[in-house]
Amino acid sequence: MKIKVLEAKVVSQIAAGEVVERPASVVKELVENALDAESTQITVEIKNGGISLIRVTDNGTGIPDSETELAFERHATSKIGNWQDLQQLSTLGFRGEALPSVAAVAQVQMATSARESTVGSYLSLEDGRIVRHDSQARSPGTTVTVQNLFRKIPARLKFLKTEATEAGKIADVVSQYALAYPEVRFTFINEGKTTLRTAGSGKLRDAVSAVYGLETAQSMLEVQLQTNSPENGPSIRVSGLAGAPTIARSSRDFLSLFVNRRWVNNRLLTFAVEEAYHGLLMQGKHPVAVINLEIPPSLVDVNVHPAKMEIKFQDERLVFGAVQKAVRQSLVQSAPVPQVEEVKSHFATPSTPFSVPQTQSGFLKPAAVRSQEETPPITPLISLPLLRLLGQLACTYIVAEGPDALYLIDQHAAHERIMLEKIRNQRAEQKVEVQGLLPPVTIEMDPRQAATLRSHLPGLAEFGFDIEIFGERAFLVRAIPAVLRERDWQAALKESLDTSGGDWAENLLNTLACHSAIRAGQVMSDIEMRELVKQLEQTSLPNSCPHGRPVMIRLTLSQIEREFNRT
Ligand code: ADP
Ligand code: MG
Repeated sequence: MKIKVLEAKVVSQIAAGEVVERPASVVKELVENALDAESTQITVEIKNGGISLIRVTDNGTGIPDSETELAFERHATSKIGNWQDLQQLSTLGFRGEALPSVAAVAQVQMATSARESTVGSYLSLEDGRIVRHDSQARSPGTTVTVQNLFRKIPARLKFLKTEATEAGKIADVVSQYALAYPEVRFTFINEGKTTLRTAGSGKLRDAVSAVYGLETAQSMLEVQLQTNSPENGPSIRVSGLAGAPTIARSSRDFLSLFVNRRWVNNRLLTFAVEEAYHGLLMQGKHPVAVINLEIPPSLVDVNVHPAKMEIKFQDERLVFGAVQKAVRQSLVQSAPVPQVEEVKSHFATPSTPFSVPQTQSGFLKPAAVRSQEETPPITPLISLPLLRLLGQLACTYIVAEGPDALYLIDQHAAHERIMLEKIRNQRAEQKVEVQGLLPPVTIEMDPRQAATLRSHLPGLAEFGFDIEIFGERAFLVRAIPAVLRERDWQAALKESLDTSGGDWAENLLNTLACHSAIRAGQVMSDIEMRELVKQLEQTSLPNSCPHGRPVMIRLTLSQIEREFNRT
């Protein structure tokens, strides 16, 4: 469509207000224009938090020379023509306000070349007026340069935060659009340094990796839901990635919401995602997630906010339900669910501090067998609530009461989990505690172990083993990891050398954790148990030990009531 000025009737329908509030709003408008122009590469460059310079370069459709001046007219747009179009928006922009608004508060230059034209245009504007319009060679696409924003409006300048904060807000805009458009290659350059570059591969996980790092990207679960049955109303699709509860953050800033790929702030959507994580996150933790909702444009009003960040849904319940369900599904499918049978076998253990009176124990077993099918699987437990210690069961399990449930914690598995994280962190920070051996101990290995040991001496040193080659198969051990103090460290070392397959350092880590953890069958004092539970609360994945076995089992009060035929 050609750029033309909207009729007064349409203009009157447009939500009025300030488009350019801060440098990040300029970047948002320019990036949206680049995306609307079907660009596959977008580069954003800034200086001084965007105040002295913002430059957005794209390889999109460009603007034909004859329309370039019109583009800076108020309410001139190529994206909608009439009132009907406003109800069916498929573009990010639609008001024809951004370019004139920016030009009114900064010095603006635009270089653009339409795909079909042979020569491009160069425009320069001061105080919103075109002061130069030349032809200039340029490959297809558009570059808009914005300098000295708000220089003539000191009141606005004063309202801005520090340059670093403004740069951060710009980085966020670029990151959000990079997440919304994984097929577009985004580059963000701040003060001459490239701080973000996405692959443009079309894969959301790659974009997440560029924005949040590989580790986060790997901990994201696929979200995919399509409502299509006619009785459920219009077809909507929810897609994206939801972070495992273990990578939850302390702020809401890691939740990206897009509606038809428009970045939005929406309480309903935020709430729907947080509800999906209900019970899986510790207090004060918020999910990492990138969720896109595709909904017929006629069912969403984006024309309610000058910066187009807010939207209104025609059917809020439909949207809420779909988003919550989509995210919940992906979380539940991926979470380990301990089987209810395990609980029963623990309860059947006789003569423990937890045993039931003789008269009732007869009821327990038949009831358990009968309710086998009806009993829902125990919900996955990923963060720990506050627990009241009740005691130790069979010298192996810690019994505790939490809100609405009884918890059985496998003391060895739990401690193993704690040790694993402790050792891993110490190693990462190069602060492994070591225990010197005086005198050093000579050990003999079989040929295979010896070969493995030789090739892994530096790796072992990272974990606190100070070992010297002492002969063909003999080694002199001068120090061991402090966690193996008073343990059979030789067995642990040999075991780690015998473990093959997988990541060697990871295997060693698991072995160390296992050997340093408290064993099953060991009596624990109340203080020790409390300490263990406290430490477990701080680990990132309290519900599985390094071998993937559950660390704890949760039996809800309603399950217990069922066992006692109370319901
Ligand atoms: P809107 O995006 O609401 O249409 P703008 O003021 O942002 O209004 O832009 C005005 C017009 O200029 C757009 O409708 C579009 O035709 C053209 N335009 C702006 N930026 C670009 C760009 N990067 N590539 C191609 N065309 C652009
Ligand atoms: Mg625009």
